[in-house]
Amino acid sequence: MGEERKIPYKIYLEEKEMPDSWYNVRADMKNKPAPLLNPGTLKPMTVEELSGVFCTELCKQELDDTTAYFEIPEEIREFYKMYRPSPLVRAYCLEKKLQTPAKIYYKFEGNNTSGSHKLNSAIAQAYYAKKQGLKGVTTETGAGQWGTALSMACAYLGLDCQVFMVKCSYEQKPFRREVMRTYGANVTPSPSEKTAVGRKMLEEFPGTTGSLGCAISEAVEAATTQEGYRYVLGSVLNQVLLHQSVIGLETKAAMDKYGIKPDVIIGCAGGGSNLGGLISPFMGQKLRGEADYRFIAVEPASCPSFTRGKFAYDFCDTGKICPLAKMYTLGSGFIPSANHAGGLRYHGMSSVLSQLYHDGYMEAVSVEQTSVFQAAQEFARVEGILPAPESAHAIRAAMDEALKCKETGEEKTILFGLTGTGYFDMVAYERFNNGEMSDSIPTDADLEKGFAGIPKFPGNEF
Ligand SMILES: *Cc1c(COP(=O)(O)O)cnc(C)c1O
Repeated sequence: MGEERKIPYKIYLEEKEMPDSWYNVRADMKNKPAPLLNPGTLKPMTVEELSGVFCTELCKQELDDTTAYFEIPEEIREFYKMYRPSPLVRAYCLEKKLQTPAKIYYKFEGNNTSGSHKLNSAIAQAYYAKKQGLKGVTTETGAGQWGTALSMACAYLGLDCQVFMVKCSYEQKPFRREVMRTYGANVTPSPSEKTAVGRKMLEEFPGTTGSLGCAISEAVEAATTQEGYRYVLGSVLNQVLLHQSVIGLETKAAMDKYGIKPDVIIGCAGGGSNLGGLISPFMGQKLRGEADYRFIAVEPASCPSFTRGKFAYDFCDTGKICPLAKMYTLGSGFIPSANHAGGLRYHGMSSVLSQLYHDGYMEAVSVEQTSVFQAAQEFARVEGILPAPESAHAIRAAMDEALKCKETGEEKTILFGLTGTGYFDMVAYERFNNGEMSDSIPTDADLEKGFAGIPKFPGNEF
């Protein structure tokens, strides 16, 4: 082959080229992610135990470490067609701006009303709830992206959707709240009078503005005390990574079509779902010894689960009612500085990604928020898309890799996940534009306080 084929700005798959199965990377892992444990017995959770909280089909997906492909049900594929395939974009303008010999690509998941990749799993989870004959689902939301995605999915399927929204977000992000209500969701500020956990919280800490951990506890209680309801979660879980593999499968199909092979694959990491989804098919190749790639997880310096956390069994929620997961964690009591505006504030990390990182298949970097917003601004000005602050973590790391290539002259191919848009994050952008944003990096002593809350039992040394 002589001349390189001209790569278009946007590579779209055709509908018929969209994946018809999700890929489960656990099937190709020699060291499987450690099982969820029952916090009472410290024994692995069974489908029966989990199915009081989650839909039965989703419990099966959660615990299945061996089935490589799960067929995507027809109804979900139809829903995906409303906003998928999502474009794979060649960032020609950014390359030019950076004057780098690197080739930069991003997979853009912000092209739907909820504004992020979360819709890919929301529709799957709502579908299985509907199929099980349930009345509705409950969940928590912090900034609101997950709640919005779930509201859209539930509206489509005619399911009731109850969202516990952290009170400070409920008050400070009225637009997200109203998007959810427009899609028919019932949105309650957390802590609330609706649950025992909420009432206890309000009694102990009157005037509290809430936390994600408390909202999770309320949503789980609401699911288990109302007949015909189950709880759904937008990140961290194995099932969520499985659904998000649609991102990576589409990306790989689009790249294969043009004979492109990425050298470095980069994604932001909150609970790990978009990163896990983007890298899954590529990681599968690496695990099977078919190809090699560098994978980089990007996290905020103010919430550094991978780069400074412990690999141990820990609680998934502050209320300590959820199962224990083995993961990189800062401790369930860790709360990032109030100064931190850029999302990705979860204390733990997907067990799948944690195991892969632990086994050396993936790298991780942490970035400071002012440099993240700088990258977001630079990207918006040349590529046109106003990125979510979460997504901008990946942009920062991709730009840093491209700038390294400028020094070495290497023509690397860099792929990153652009998970969403930032229209509801303008207060954070305002702080950046006013020069009022600063960085906050926890001290070792701050982290020790979080680590002290990690449960201690034989076999859980860290
Ligand atoms: C929720 C969210 C993330 C982080 O979640 P992961 O599970 O780590 O992918 C990243 N970007 C956007 C836009 C989000 O809404």
